[in-house]
Amino acid sequence: MQDVLKAFGLENTSGNWPVYSPVDGSQIGAVAMHTSNDVLAMVESAKRAFVAWREVPAPVRGEFVRLLGEELRLCKSDLGRLVTLECGKILQEGLGEVQEMIDICDFAVGLSRQLYGMTMPSERAGHHMREVWHPLGVVGVITAFNFPVAVWAWNAALALVCGDSVVWKPSEKTPLTALACSKIFERTVVKFRAKGHVVPDGLMQVIVGGRDAGEALCAHHDVALVSATGSTRMGKAVATTVAARLGRSLLELGGNNAMIVTPQADIEMAVRAILFGAVGTAGQRCTSLRRLIVHKNVAEKLMGSLVKAYEAIRIGNPFDASTLVGPLIDKAAFEAMQKALADAVKQGGCVLTGGGRVDVGAGGYYVRPAIVEMSAQTEVVSTETFAPILYVLTYERLHEAIALQNDVPQGLSSCIFTTDMREAEQFTSITGSDCGIANVNIGPSGAEIGGAFGGEKETGGGRESGSDSWKAYMRRQTQTVNYSNALPLAQGIVFEV
Ligand code: NAD
Repeated sequence: MQDVLKAFGLENTSGNWPVYSPVDGSQIGAVAMHTSNDVLAMVESAKRAFVAWREVPAPVRGEFVRLLGEELRLCKSDLGRLVTLECGKILQEGLGEVQEMIDICDFAVGLSRQLYGMTMPSERAGHHMREVWHPLGVVGVITAFNFPVAVWAWNAALALVCGDSVVWKPSEKTPLTALACSKIFERTVVKFRAKGHVVPDGLMQVIVGGRDAGEALCAHHDVALVSATGSTRMGKAVATTVAARLGRSLLELGGNNAMIVTPQADIEMAVRAILFGAVGTAGQRCTSLRRLIVHKNVAEKLMGSLVKAYEAIRIGNPFDASTLVGPLIDKAAFEAMQKALADAVKQGGCVLTGGGRVDVGAGGYYVRPAIVEMSAQTEVVSTETFAPILYVLTYERLHEAIALQNDVPQGLSSCIFTTDMREAEQFTSITGSDCGIANVNIGPSGAEIGGAFGGEKETGGGRESGSDSWKAYMRRQTQTVNYSNALPLAQGIVFEV
């Protein structure tokens, strides 16, 4: 464990905030929390950094992000292991998270030469109209514990090529991985400067703090964009504070993701996708599968295989290569899971398997993932509980299944398993899934970097990562240039003195 911390110079941390590993509950470090005054000073410094960074040509900014990606490649194993140590996801997923950081860096490097605006024909002779994208300013990034490094990279890689500076407030549950990223960033700065390029101080800073620090960041007038990832409760608070000063926010909030399994589905494939979707990351992904909506004619067959597969899942130390399910993040997460299971039973549910705590011979909150059969989509089913609970509902007609899938407050990810082209197309059509992500024959989690990531309704409406989500990190300017000798007005208005 020490060697992972040592790789980033974090073996002897000290401060007023203890950091625990969910793997065994032991303390792995301590950090000093920043005050609101520190936050103000960081934003000031980020403002100065922005003024210098925006003038660096975008492809040169891209070269910086290319070096950041190289640095991440060099330390993929160490950072992946630190992610596992601090947030408890299995090592394969810890490494996958770092790979996602590398992928977004690659994406951003290409983007640095493609921050395209467009030109439009002017109605006035001798005029040229165009749209230009300029750097935006200081970007505040607030992240959740369950993707302690990748979500920062999604935001930072894009913000940096777009010419912005970044102030990052990671989760108070995972400050060490954030400090490790800060070290990786500093190593990149050294290499970039050695190539003769300029990097202003304060280009990327980490606030170590909790809710207070996040609130101070959101309230600051000089933070042009707040990109916040976390619970819907947090997102509502962030949206209100940022809107009160007419700032811009990008929200990536809770999900309540469903899979529809039709009679035409490849059931064996569906079972495998359900397993990864519902129990992967111990059910602690925003895109985790939480609701299974299965046709009544295939329910018995599917549930038989699924319960068997659930009972065979290997739960234990996330560093062991054979483990599929590691610990929950903390005691509060375990208690929330127990409460949701009790509520589900009160609301007519029947626990088919799992739910209890598993003794793996170490501290930490390890649980057996649960499947709960429900006769209706009750309140507990409509609520995101950040734990491995899969609620099962049955349907008879596809439109009823789609209605059930859409009838929750969240709108992040969704999927259908079918080999029938009509069913698949109906699910992805205007009258189909209302989510930001709609998959066919793929589970709801495990998105790729190239697509825009995010969801509708209480998921917050934000889009990050691929496609044109970079536009959130820039300001659009419409420019009209008159190169004629006349001064015609638009709409043919005559205004002669
Ligand atoms: P959380 O909401 O408790 O905390 C997230 C972050 O927000 C932390 O850094 C926290 O300190 C900060 N925060 C809390 N209250 C704040 C406030 N009032 N103002 C400013 N900052 C505040 O979430 P969590 O428990 O760390 O993570 C789990 C949640 O995150 C789940 O709901 C999950 O679905 C969601 N999530 C969403 C996505 C997505 O992309 N949609 C990705 C990962 C996690």
